[in-house]
Amino acid sequence: MTTKESSMMKKAGRVIALLEKEYPDTRIALEFKTPLELLVALILAAQCTDERVNRVTRSLFKKYRTAGDYAGADITTLEQEVRPTGFFRNKVKSIKACGKDIAEKHRGKVPDNLEDLLSLHGVGRKTANIVLGNAFGVPAIGVDTHVGRLARRIGLARSKDPNKVEAELTAIVPEDKMVKFCHLLQDHGRKVCAARTPLCYQCVINKYCDFPDKTERPKK
Ligand code: SF4
Repeated sequence: MTTKESSMMKKAGRVIALLEKEYPDTRIALEFKTPLELLVALILAAQCTDERVNRVTRSLFKKYRTAGDYAGADITTLEQEVRPTGFFRNKVKSIKACGKDIAEKHRGKVPDNLEDLLSLHGVGRKTANIVLGNAFGVPAIGVDTHVGRLARRIGLARSKDPNKVEAELTAIVPEDKMVKFCHLLQDHGRKVCAARTPLCYQCVINKYCDFPDKTERPKK
């Protein structure tokens, strides 16, 4: 291990420890009970808030129980059911095609490995890693907009490409903290380190952060 890698690992460890204190109850915001429910919720979460997805899935998950249920669903009915999450036509196409893949190629079970997850219709690395980490307990880093932005600002990653950010973070975040690390960055991104105006003056990891344009407390 190089000196640089070792110092980045230390930095990641310090950031995680501080954020764990700040967000002791951190967890994935999407509600689900099975890997299939998480997969469907993640497809619906594109360009939509987690709260809105949860409102839709509470009744959706009571009606559709299996991958085959989604594959065989009436398109117009399902479109109306998920309409509040936006982009509903494309989302229904993905959910139905993904359900068909799971039903036909994986005996109705969401696969628990990256390669097979990536082979499902509409499933990219972010979604696959979030499913692996949160539904199967496999160490994985799913790079969403919060994780990417904060990792770059703090100086734990450099690339703008989410796949490369995933590789950079995977090299320095301890395996047993990978899933939690993503939730912590998401919480911090929502509450303090917003995309437009981060509240750096009240940020608990300020001293470990490399962001060059840190904000200062507004003068009264
Ligand atoms: S110091 Fe500012 S930019 Fe850095 S993590 Fe905190 S809020 Fe974000």
